[in-house]
Amino acid sequence: MGQGLLERGEIMLQTVDVGRRSLDAYRGVAPDAILNDLFRHAESLRGSRVVHINATNYGGGVSELLRSVVPLMNDLGILTDWKVISGDNTFFETTKRIHNALQGARISLTKQESDAYVRNMERNARLFEEEYDYVFIHDPQPAGMLSFRGKGSARWIWRCHIDTSDPAPDVWDFLRGFLQGYDAAVFTMQEFLPPHIPIDHVEIIPPAIDPLSPKNLHLPESTARQILAWLGIDMDRPLITQVSRFDPWKDPMGVIASYRIARKEIANLQLVLAGSMALDDPEAWDIYKEIMNESQNDPLIHVLTNLTGVGNIEVNALQRLSDIIVQKSIREGFGLVISEALWKGTPVVAGRTGGIPLQAADGVGGVLVESVEECAHAIIDLFRNPAEKEELARLGKERVTEHFLTPRLLLNHLSLMHTLSEGLLPFPQSRTAEEVRRDPVCGMAIEEPSLTSRRDDNTYYFCSERCRSRFDADPKRYV
Ligand code: UDP
Repeated sequence: MGQGLLERGEIMLQTVDVGRRSLDAYRGVAPDAILNDLFRHAESLRGSRVVHINATNYGGGVSELLRSVVPLMNDLGILTDWKVISGDNTFFETTKRIHNALQGARISLTKQESDAYVRNMERNARLFEEEYDYVFIHDPQPAGMLSFRGKGSARWIWRCHIDTSDPAPDVWDFLRGFLQGYDAAVFTMQEFLPPHIPIDHVEIIPPAIDPLSPKNLHLPESTARQILAWLGIDMDRPLITQVSRFDPWKDPMGVIASYRIARKEIANLQLVLAGSMALDDPEAWDIYKEIMNESQNDPLIHVLTNLTGVGNIEVNALQRLSDIIVQKSIREGFGLVISEALWKGTPVVAGRTGGIPLQAADGVGGVLVESVEECAHAIIDLFRNPAEKEELARLGKERVTEHFLTPRLLLNHLSLMHTLSEGLLPFPQSRTAEEVRRDPVCGMAIEEPSLTSRRDDNTYYFCSERCRSRFDADPKRYV
């Protein structure tokens, strides 16, 4: 039985072993200004004890993030653990339904489901005995633990990675009850905030990718080509790829439909759908079967999974050597795969949803689409305009370097921890967290403000022209 599932006789939450990493290795990779700030801010938090708790140690963006964040926090002298909760099958089926409901699906929970959530939260709370200074709870699955365990002397932070702007009312009411008592909530974008959140301190922190992880580190082209040939991909034919969990919100069937239109124009076009099967995602198997039924008679569509050997290095090679990375999501939290592709110099054609436009603005990194037809035409256009494709990719990589690498995320975490410990720890910087200038549209911290807009005697700062024009079009929404 794998990690995360209910184990007999367990006596504590399971700790994930993440090894050791050094932030010095990021010199010359991530911006120096961010690294310098990070070392300075870490000083007064040295020795603090932090735990990140989520539902699974592999599959999906959260485990991807924690795998990098946790060892790097330790390198800064902040004693950080990563723990995963466990649960029975009904629990994970329930939390998947909660996840879908928070993302907008109009469903409610049965009595049996809400009981399963409560029962599993009670049990996990009992297994969480250690004391920490900061407890980061990721997503809805472990959110209820606080109610049963009590805070102790720790600051509790609910880190929500999904778009909860339009949650199913019943399910949101159910979850809200468990959020009372948290010291802070963190969302990826301002737009993701749910109605009436019962937590006073809310911060916006977009996730980030680790440029030195096996998924993102530099791979020589010859090695990447060998890996793709091993996967059965013909390197002499054009290739588009979507890398994501098999999930209806990622619209894999829409990708196949777009691909079929594009293939009429782009001879011999191949499609890879690479999907990982996460332990906390029972729905994935049904989607996988649906994809197989749709594609099995088509030799140019390759469906690959972690269960047949597609791990980080293979994803790295796919993102590096595909002509285009597609991410045709209908709803999305952040979509780490966008930054992953752009970091490797590959342009994206992606759904205009969630955190995707934050990473790939129109004209920077890719083309954003809202339908099967738009997706197909964007793919065709990029194949026909290689110079445009290259320029998009260049600008996309610049944007990711500036905003979406792990050191920036760590800096945001430290700043939040300082804010929450106000009165307990001195904040060593000249700028406090409140004084950090933030883009009111995307929430990004602005280090060197250049784009501004004035309203009612206030000056607002923006990370990009796109955010400024969205603000100017509807300032009331953001002020
Ligand atoms: N991923 C992977 N193998 C797969 C599918 C996905 O390694 O077959 C990784 C992907 O590279 C990314 C993460 O899983 O790092 C997915 O994160 P994202 O934010 O895009 O979506 P989520 O799954 O969190 O909704």
